[in-house]
Amino acid sequence: MGIMRFLGAAVAVLAMLGVGSTAEGAKWSRTYIRQLPDSAFAAIERTPEGRTIRHLPHHDAAGNLDIPHLCNALSRLGQVKWRNPANAEIARRHLQEHLEQVGRGACRPPRKSTP
Ligand SMILES: [Zn+2]
Repeated sequence: MGIMRFLGAAVAVLAMLGVGSTAEGAKWSRTYIRQLPDSAFAAIERTPEGRTIRHLPHHDAAGNLDIPHLCNALSRLGQVKWRNPANAEIARRHLQEHLEQVGRGACRPPRKSTP
C-alpha cells in the first residue's frame, strides 16, 4: 500500500521532469553525452579554471548527425550561457550549416503524418 503511493509519487515527479517523453525523439542521457567526442558538440568553451564546457551535442557517438538533436540545439541556442559570446555565433553557424545540408524543413514540427 505504502509502496504504491510511493510509486505514484515517483511517476508524477518523472512526468513533471519530462522523463519518458518521446515527443522529441530519443533523449540522450548525461552518461551518453559525457562519452561523446568533442566533435559531437556545436561549441566548446573553457573556463578560467581550465574546465571544459561542451555545448549543444548533435552528433551521435559514431559521428553521425542526429536531426532531432540538431533541431533541439538550434532551438536552445538562445538559452546557452556562453562564457564567450563569440562562441554563440560559431555554434549558430555550425548548426545552420547542418540545417542547410538536411533541408530547412527537417526541423519543422510534424503537423500530420503525410503519406
Ligand atoms: Zn556538427
